[in-house]
Amino acid sequence: MTDTWWCEHAWLGGSVAEGVLFSVSDGSITAIDTDVTAQPGSHRLRGLVIPGLANAHSHAFHRALRARTQRDRGSFWTWRDLMYRAAERLNPDRYRRLTRAVYAEMALAGITSVGEFHYVHHEAGGAHYAEPNAMGQAVIDGAADARIRLTLLDTCYLSSGPDGSPLTGPQQRFGDGTGDRWAERVEALRQQVGITPSVLVGAALHSVRGVPVEHMPPVVEWAAAHGAPLHVHSSEQTREVEQCLAVHGGTPTAVLRDAGALGPRTTAVHATHLTSEDIADMDRTSTGVCFCPTTERDLGDGIGPAPALLAGRGLFSLGSDSHAVIDLFEEARAVELDERLASRTRGTIAADRLLRAATYDGHRALGWADAGELVVGARADFVAVQIDSIRTAGGGATAENVVFAAAAPDVTDVVVDGRAVVVDRKHVAVPDVGAELASAIADLMDASLEATR
Ligand SMILES: [Zn+2]
Repeated sequence: MTDTWWCEHAWLGGSVAEGVLFSVSDGSITAIDTDVTAQPGSHRLRGLVIPGLANAHSHAFHRALRARTQRDRGSFWTWRDLMYRAAERLNPDRYRRLTRAVYAEMALAGITSVGEFHYVHHEAGGAHYAEPNAMGQAVIDGAADARIRLTLLDTCYLSSGPDGSPLTGPQQRFGDGTGDRWAERVEALRQQVGITPSVLVGAALHSVRGVPVEHMPPVVEWAAAHGAPLHVHSSEQTREVEQCLAVHGGTPTAVLRDAGALGPRTTAVHATHLTSEDIADMDRTSTGVCFCPTTERDLGDGIGPAPALLAGRGLFSLGSDSHAVIDLFEEARAVELDERLASRTRGTIAADRLLRAATYDGHRALGWADAGELVVGARADFVAVQIDSIRTAGGGATAENVVFAAAAPDVTDVVVDGRAVVVDRKHVAVPDVGAELASAIADLMDASLEATR
């Protein structure tokens, strides 16, 4: 059966066309006609339609920390302490309720794919659940409830410092013990999930401090064997880089290079503090990066070298990471606006390139090579952005208006794989996203946690 979607305006990856009719069959775009009038029987999308946004770096449970970490002055490390206390209270039931609500918030913001950097694998203390992938399955179920695509970046996390010191306290539930045991568990999950159009199991190394180099090969090899994405936190904090230099005599990028972990399927998350050799290594290996500007801003991480990385061969994706806000337009414009502050120069990165990062590059970084662009053969993900809202009125149907003026609430309609998920700002399957977020977060951050702050 062929469905048709008529769009007032659509961004076709560099130019905006008017009166665009997409024919959709089995969730994919089969034909695109432009300059046509609305057809009887077509679904209609007003405003400017863009491809689905990809949130390439998420820790869903960090959503529970929003605003709470702004009360007192603190560092990245005190923020991390509160985050660990939230992690302690997660169980499969709470995790599913929270991911369902957080991913529904993402859907409302036009996000059609999320990369969940998932490391809360086991029970508090580190004992395995009866089903060793119960927590991963909770995330998968949450994404299915919210009707968005998921790349579960199952994260290997074994040590608490670059010297290989063991996980302690709340970190214990993150660990599988060895890289081989991580690979066994994840391979079982991959086989359980099977081939589906909406879930992909990928791999992640937590960071060079979280995985001793001798345990990296099983993770790198598992990802290579399955052509899966491999993500890794890298060079977010100057202290992390200094510790790595002290222990390994090289930067995190150099350690990853020597472990064979760089390459076109690899995404270095943050990539904030890079040397010129790091940037050259990443370019030579076509390694991608994922910037998370609202989180990097929140945590005081610094500003990464976006122009140099964009000039390289790797993908440039975006993520909302700690979910200080969930708004990929804000992430996209922050790349350029932060660069303006750092360089005191305007107009380095064009709106079209930023929108491409949020759509095309992000989907590829998550292993969805057929999503994130409006072309024949691609998955039918449509995101309608209102261009006559209070924020966008007068700015026109342009990439500049979407990237530099729109906000998540300007997304009116979202279609994933040809299926309407958000209609007129309402999620079709999660009727009250705000209420579900509030109750899932209240359940996680209970009074005892507040009392011990
Ligand atoms: Zn992260």
